Order: sequence, then C-alpha cells, then structure tokens
Amino acid sequence: MNAVKWVFLFQEGSVSMKELLGGKGANLAEMTGIGLPVPPGFTVTTEACRAFYASGRALPEGVMEQVSTAMHGIEDAKGQRFGDPHNPLLVSVRSGSVSSMPGMMDTILNLGLNDETVQGLAKETNNPRFAYDCYRRLIQMYGNVVLHIPLISFEDLLIRMKEERGYSEESEVTAEDWQSLVDQYKQLIEQEAAVPFPQNVNEQLEKAIEAVFLSWNNARAIIYRKAHRIPDEQGTAVNIQAMVFGNRGDDCGTGVVFTRNPSTGDKILFGEFLTNAQGEDVVAGIRTPLPIARMEQEMPPLYVQLAELADKLERHYKDMQDIEFTVDKHKLYILQTRGGKRTPQAAMRIAVQLVEEGIITKAEALLRIEETHLDQLLHRAIDCSGEPEVLAVGLPASPGAASGQAVFDTDTAEHWTKEGKPVILVRSETTPEDIHGVLAAEGVLTSRGGMTSHAAVVARGMGKPCVCGCESLDIDGNLFRAGDRTIREGDWISIDGANGRVIAGKVGLKEAELSAELEQMLQWADEVRTLRVMTNADNPEDARKASLFGAEGIGLCRTEHMFFGADRLPLVRHMILAESKEERLKWLAELLPIQHKDFAGLFRAMDGKPVTIRLLDPPMHEFLPNVDELSQRYYRLAAQERREAAVPEGHEFTSDRSASTKAAGLATAGLDSQDFPSAAVEKAEVEQLLRKVRLLHEANPMLGQRGCRLGIVFPEIYEMQAEAIFRAAAECAAEGIRALPEIMIPLVGHVNELELMRSLVDRIAKRVLGREAARCPYKVGTMIEVPRAALTAHQIAEKADFFSFGTNDMTQMTFGYSRDDAEGKFLTHYVEQKVIPHNPFQVLDREGVGQLIEWAVQKGRTVKPHLKTGVCGEHGGDRQSIFFCHAAGLDYISCSPYRVPLARIAAAQAQLLSGAGSQDQK
Ligand code: ADP
Ligand code: MG
Ligand code: MG
Repeated sequence: MNAVKWVFLFQEGSVSMKELLGGKGANLAEMTGIGLPVPPGFTVTTEACRAFYASGRALPEGVMEQVSTAMHGIEDAKGQRFGDPHNPLLVSVRSGSVSSMPGMMDTILNLGLNDETVQGLAKETNNPRFAYDCYRRLIQMYGNVVLHIPLISFEDLLIRMKEERGYSEESEVTAEDWQSLVDQYKQLIEQEAAVPFPQNVNEQLEKAIEAVFLSWNNARAIIYRKAHRIPDEQGTAVNIQAMVFGNRGDDCGTGVVFTRNPSTGDKILFGEFLTNAQGEDVVAGIRTPLPIARMEQEMPPLYVQLAELADKLERHYKDMQDIEFTVDKHKLYILQTRGGKRTPQAAMRIAVQLVEEGIITKAEALLRIEETHLDQLLHRAIDCSGEPEVLAVGLPASPGAASGQAVFDTDTAEHWTKEGKPVILVRSETTPEDIHGVLAAEGVLTSRGGMTSHAAVVARGMGKPCVCGCESLDIDGNLFRAGDRTIREGDWISIDGANGRVIAGKVGLKEAELSAELEQMLQWADEVRTLRVMTNADNPEDARKASLFGAEGIGLCRTEHMFFGADRLPLVRHMILAESKEERLKWLAELLPIQHKDFAGLFRAMDGKPVTIRLLDPPMHEFLPNVDELSQRYYRLAAQERREAAVPEGHEFTSDRSASTKAAGLATAGLDSQDFPSAAVEKAEVEQLLRKVRLLHEANPMLGQRGCRLGIVFPEIYEMQAEAIFRAAAECAAEGIRALPEIMIPLVGHVNELELMRSLVDRIAKRVLGREAARCPYKVGTMIEVPRAALTAHQIAEKADFFSFGTNDMTQMTFGYSRDDAEGKFLTHYVEQKVIPHNPFQVLDREGVGQLIEWAVQKGRTVKPHLKTGVCGEHGGDRQSIFFCHAAGLDYISCSPYRVPLARIAAAQAQLLSGAGSQDQK
C-alpha cells in the first residue's frame, strides 16, 4: 500500500486543488505554474490537519519525513541549507485554509534562525542589524504562536528599550540593540513558558507546523467561521516557503495591492507599501503604511512590474485579486494572491466592469454576487443636510455609515450590543482577536493601521462601516481626544466609511439608492429569471418605493396594518367591542370610507400591476388594550374611588388622577373623554372593557379565532373590506387607472371555508360593481398556511384563483412551534447545538414545510394547470428560500420593498444554477 502523500511542492499543485492545499497553497502553486516570481516552497495538506485532529493532535506518520525531503528541494533551489551556520535557509510557516480567513490563523516568519545561524546570516548579508531584527521577530512570533505568550509582552520590552535609548523611530534601533532585545525575549520565553527558545531548527519547524494546525481552533478562527458559515471540519493547510526580505534596507519593502479599489470598485491599483519592513508590519495594522502610489515614485521600475503582474493575475483568475508582495534588494516577489474581499458596492461595480471588459459573462457576474452582499446591496449614508461636527478624518476603509455609542474594548462592545445598545468600536488598532467585537459593533474606528490591515479587510467582508488609520485621534483608555474635544465611553459618535469622516453625536442616516451598476446587474437578472418578484406593502409609499426597486406588484397587503393608525384604532376597538351586530355595522360603516381610501391609494401606486389584499387576519385581541394593564388600572381606580369617598366635593382630581393622565388613559382604551367622570364612573367603564377583553382572550391566539374564522363568524367585517376594495377599484377604473385586486382569504384549512368566503366576495362585487364588473377584473385566492390546506390542495384549488403560501404560519404549524416562544426560548439553542440547521423562520425548511408546498402546488395544478402560486412573507426575501421557490415551480415570491433587488438577483441565480438559461447568457 502506498503511503499517504501529505506534502505537495508548489510545482505539483494548482488552483483546482484548493480543498486539499487550502486557498493560499493552491494559489501559490498556480502562480508558480504560470511562471510568477514566487519563492520556492511546499504545502502540507488540509488532510494532514484533519488526520492531526483525528489522532488526538499528533502529526500523522510520514508527515515530517515528507517535509524534510521537500525542505531539501528548497535548499537546492536556494543554494542554502536549513540550520547551516554559514549560509542558513530561512522559511516561513504559514496557515492557509480552504476559504480565506484573513489573519484568523497563525504564521511564523524567519524560521531557521538560532544563536549560530543568526551570525551566519549577519555575515552573509553583511548586515547584522537586519539579522538580529529577523531573529527577534522569529522569537516573538514563535513565542506567541507556539508558546502562547501574549504579543504585548514582547512589544512592552521593545517599547521600553526604545524609551531607554531615547529613540522615537524604529529605524534608530541598532544591531546591538536588537541583539540585546533578543536576549530579553529569550528570557521572557524561559520565564513565561518554562522552556527555552529551541536552538534546534528542525524542532522549530515541527512545533511551528503543529501550532498552525492548532490555530485552526483558536477563538477568533472559530468565531470567523461561524460568521461566514465555514465548516469546522475543513481544517487548514500549512505552507512552508523560503523567506524573502523586505526589511534589509531602503531598497527593500513589502506591501499589499488590490487590482481594483475594494471599497468602491474603481479600476486602479489600490494598496499600501512600507519600505524596509517585513510582511506582518502591513497586514497586522501596526504601522500605517504609505499608499501604493508612493512606490511608483520610489521604485518606478518595480511599480511597473507590479502593475503588470497584477493585471496578469487578474486576467488569469478572472477576478479582482488581493496580492501580497515583497521587494528584496530590487527584486519583486509575489507571496500570495486571492480573490479580494470587497464591499457589496465594489462587488457590483467590479462584476459589471469585468463583463464590459469581456473577462467574464453576464451569467458569471450574476452568480458571483454573494449572499452576504445581497443582504447589503443598499447601504445607508449620512444625511448631510445638518452640519455635522467632524472630529477627524481617517481612511475610508469600508463604506456605509453608522452611529453608535463609543466603546473602547471588544468585550464591552459585545455586552452593550447584547443589551440592545448600538456601539462603534474604537481601537488604536484592531487585531484579529477583536473579531467578536467587530461582529457586534455597528462600525469600527481605529487610529492606526491601513486600508489593507486585517481589520479593514474583515470589516469590508462583513459589510461593516470602517474608518481606520485615523491618526489625529488620541485614544487614551476609555476615551479619545480629537482636537479639543473629548469623547468618552458611551458618548454617541458616527462614522462614514465612504469618506473616512468621524462625527460627534448621532446623525441622520438616509436610505440608499440603486447605483448604476446595480441597476445594470438587475437588468441582467431580469433577462434571466422566471420567478416573478412582488412586494409586501400596506401603504402607497412602500408600494412606490418597491416599484422603483422593480417590484411587479403587491404580493401581500396586510390589511390589519391599516387598522393601527390613530384615526382608526378607536373605531376598530369600538367595532370589536360592539355588543350587537347592529352596533358593529355602525362602526364598520365609519371604517368603510377609510379603507376605501387606503385601497384606492394602493391601486393608484400600482397602476396596472396586481395588488394582493389579505382580508383581516390576526386575532381581535391584538387591537385591544392589554389585560394586565387594564386590570391594574381598574385596581388603581377602585382605590381612588375609596379615597374620593372620603374627600369633600370639588377636590377629587388630585395626584395620579390629573386630567391629563386620565385623558391619556382613556385614549389608550380607545374611548373618548368628553367629560371627566368621577373615579366611580371611570371604574365602571374600565370594568366593562376588562370584561369584554377577558371574554375575547384566547389561550392560544395563534390557533384561535383569526383569519377566515373571523370572517365566517363576523361576515360583516369581510363584507366591509370587500366593499371598500371594489368601490376603490371602480373609482380608479373611472379615472383610467387599471386596478387589479386579488383578494386573499387567510388561514383556510377546509375548502368549505374558502367556498363561503369566496361567495361573500363575489356577492359584494356584484352588488358594488354592478354593470362596471367587466372593467374591474378581480381574483379570489387563498393563503395556504394550515397544513390541512396543503394536503387537500386539490379540493381547495377548485375554489381558488391563486395560492399564496404563508410560510411563516406554515412553519409554525408544521413544526408545532409558536414563533415568539420558540425564538425567545429554545430555537437559538437548537441552532447552536445543530439540532436543526437553521432558524426555519429565516430559511425555509425544505424537507418539511417545503414538502407541503411542493405537494400543494402539484395537487393544485392537477385541478387547475395554470394555478398561480407564490410565497409571501419573510422567506420571500431569503436567497436559499428563493432558490427553493424556483425549484418548486412557484410563479412568484413577495418580500419587503428593500429586499426586492436582492430577490431579483437571487431569482436569476436560481435560474442560472438550475441549468436552464446558462447557454444563451453571454
Ligand atoms: P496571513 O494569512 O495572516 O496574511 P501569511 O501567511 O500570508 O498570513 O503571512 C503573513 C505576512 O508574512 C504576509 O505579509 C506575508 O506576505 C508575509 N510572508 C509570508 N511568507 C513570507 C516569506 N516567505 N517571505 C517574506 N514574507 C512572507
Ligand atoms: Mg496573507
Ligand atoms: Mg398567516
């Protein structure tokens, strides 16, 4: 049996081997293959990492043998030997997972130095300062990554040394200083880890490989994986690569470039550069680097070469790249490339540009739009109509605007956010360990670090606004100073990641608009998709907004939302509390003209597009005051009454029974207060109200008297609504507007329910429209949300013009979860424990609820082959659920106005991924 191959030389791999070699390793191999200047090296596979964990954290047999053979390869290529005291080979040991996780795992540079080889390096390069700088970096990284000594302990020693010597710049540090720091670092390690820094280079190598594998499970990597839905089982590869040095003189340097601007998508080389520095200095955000344009001035030929390589890489990968490079004595090396993380706006812009440049097809462009980007296509911006007080301006690292209370450490950020307080995380620099704080915060502000620092990269990937490198901020514990202003923990600030502004206080945010690129992409999406996209809207303003975003009609108007306005709620309450049908009719008659106006507004806004109106759905008690509050008031009044009985005439309005509190109390009860009756009279009113509210109380309102059950018991309510709809339709038709009402009966479980309600609607239509009927076409359909309705869909379809799946209620009833209780209690726990994969209220449960939908569609269409079917509710705005709707053959989905663009793109992606339509897309 052949031994497992754990190690692949860069010459042996390619980008297609990402699963095995990790992204970094596969790309290093690919770049080696196409002849780019990549220092020689090899990759230990992710399979080795999985085997490492499977065997209780031990390197599998054969790994170190294969590593050592591969090391000889590097030695031969470089003409150096690992551990050679005269001309030592140094390597980096780099993590590299399958999905990019910038900065989340560990890397060690300059491995192979010890007390002897450092002297060889000094002599060979004729540069002892450089050699000891490398050595102290190695000890620091090894101490941190392998022995878990906090970096700050090393930094402190460095700072103290610089202070003692009176240095302000690192460039003033001499070879002897570095050498003495090396001694201090070694002592620190002995103290903290109780083992010496290993002088045996092979021991260094083995420990470093193990540590990189272990870093797969450090806290920040775990959090990052969770946030980005990366499977825990994947594991990381380890890349071992000959070192090149950007830190041996001013003709050396290191940097990061993006082939396009990752914030805006502009087509210019974008990046940063530090002379005389080693890679970590840029990506760790410790020094704020220079913009890449400075490299053009300082090293013109190398800049040109870099630009050419960047272009070559972009064309090769057909995507914007994020490239790490180092210049070692006038020679350029590429150390990493990967698809660049970018903001949703930049993603859109870049994809459109790539299509226009003929690099990718429209279909590829559409398929590239990521799920998280879809959620954030529409970014908010600061409303500049006021004159904001600008405290400082930093680098615009990730666009979008955010307001929040300033906090200065990540744990506080997390706590406050949990308490529902929006926060802006303010740090001098953020390290990858801060990830949980970044995740929690509305936005991130740092005083140091560049646009390509890990903090900025991570924020952009999450679509969080970020301003970094804001050097005029003086951060001091739990406060910062900007000029003569001091901002303390808890003070409100705002940041604008599009232009780097830091603003005092809370500012108005304005909703985003569609960019030209997004419009373009949406148009391409419309050319492809077959699923129609409607919107949920209850008022003309939302309806118009949704139309601008491309909604093809209203898929759900929740009429109950129309009942909550201040002018209606009292009428609605009287109507509900009416003692007789007669009395109820009186209040309904008052509601009729109001509803009429509501519907006419919607028809006008949607002229020519269908407007699906759901008749009243929720249980009545939702419109009534809360029982507990009412009974408290009752007892207060009773006490008051007793006191009043003891007080002389004319002094009854005291303390808590002031006129205003009483008027407010009555208003919340929906009752008028023409006069101020005594406590006794009011108490009687409250008592009566309380009695009725108790009467309407239900043990389980979700399964109680609601939906069509209301319409059947109190037909006059639905009659009023139907009348209002048809009157509005007739009025609009007379104005030349095409009103297309589609009336939807909620919560049907038995065909007879629908039959009754349908004939009610038809009857009213005939009465109201009379001869106008021909000019006012309408449909009557039903929500399918009760499982029984889905199961008996063939019967229900006989009476329905359309089915609209109410997936929220359907999920509640299929799982037997009451949503409010589930989400408040066990559901998060379930998802965390992986009892179920997602919250089924967010992502449609294909196996259960989905099966019911498929069944209902199929059964319904056996009766009416062209039966219109759709989904309304939150699932309609979720990408995975939209994919399901497409696959299940639904005609449309309906979602909230702001999710309409997202839904259009997801619908196109669904079509493209299902295979059909991918040929004719070019
Ligand atoms: P991360 O995933 O944190 O970016 P990397 O493995 O890419 O970790 O390495 C961290 C830094 O060290 C990067 O700037 C990288 O370019 C630099 N680096 C890695 N290997 C080498 C090497 N062989 N020579 C010089 N610099 C290197
Ligand atoms: Mg890197
Ligand atoms: Mg429902």
